[in-house]
Amino acid sequence: MSANDSLVQIGMGPEPDQIDLLPAPSWRPALPRWLKRPLPAAGGIGFTRDLIADLKLETICESGKCPNRTECWSRKTATFMVLGETCTRPCGFCAVKRGRPEEVAEDEPERLAEASARMGLRHVVITSVTRDDLPDGGADHFRRCILAVRERSGATVEVLTPDFNGDTNALDIVLSAKPEVFNHNMETVNRLQQFVRRKAQYEVSLKVLAYVKQTAPEIRTKSGLMLGLGESTEEILETLSDLRAAGCDLITMGQYLQPSAKHLTVQRYLPPEEFDRLGELARRLGFVDVASGPFVRSSYHADEMAKF
Ligand code: SF4
Repeated sequence: MSANDSLVQIGMGPEPDQIDLLPAPSWRPALPRWLKRPLPAAGGIGFTRDLIADLKLETICESGKCPNRTECWSRKTATFMVLGETCTRPCGFCAVKRGRPEEVAEDEPERLAEASARMGLRHVVITSVTRDDLPDGGADHFRRCILAVRERSGATVEVLTPDFNGDTNALDIVLSAKPEVFNHNMETVNRLQQFVRRKAQYEVSLKVLAYVKQTAPEIRTKSGLMLGLGESTEEILETLSDLRAAGCDLITMGQYLQPSAKHLTVQRYLPPEEFDRLGELARRLGFVDVASGPFVRSSYHADEMAKF
């Protein structure tokens, strides 16, 4: 095996010799049986797809190549992605396009609200690409989206935001619209942050969640982890403990799946029983609700997790 064979392949971003890389497993694990499942009945998928296209909206379901898309779209749910389809950060796990982002579409909050109403959503999840190019990181756009959805449909709103580089002024802008759930994903354990989300920092993400909880304790805070990137159980538990210390209420844990050959390779497929055990440990640490399983994503069945 050559030196390069022992390294994971990565997408855009710094040149490979400029960054540290995760070792690839010495064998490429086959997809285990628990990750093969029958396609759910297509049901409302056409309705959801046509509506999203009609209103020219983006979803992380599509942009992120989410494995649950058929199921969620058949249930007429989706997670909207605002602020364009191009991200300013080069995370090694993420399928979202990166590069020079688009102009912010001023009418997007209204189109999003219209989609939420037509879909009959009672809980709307809004995420975005990371917009380090904008002075407020897109915080005011989030604020406008929350208000528009609430006014048009009366739905509860969950935002899944970037870290805004830890800017509390930006966080205050989002919080001023009082989303019911504030979600910010930790994604991975401390040791792997630089490989997995290269421009983000573990401590900054913890501070974001802690700030939200201290500033607006009535808002449920939530975070998520992708597992199978080479983390140990001890590191997972340490991360969960850190999240609880930051006042995080809700946690999701799911299996990382490699979106393409350019992205970080899977180091290990955790069996469902291991997800169950980790979920139980998370509950014991005091999370209000826990979703842990191979197909869990931060917005998977978010409406059920955000019962009020
Ligand atoms: S889990 Fe979330 S991102 Fe994936 S399809 Fe469902 S709503 Fe979309």
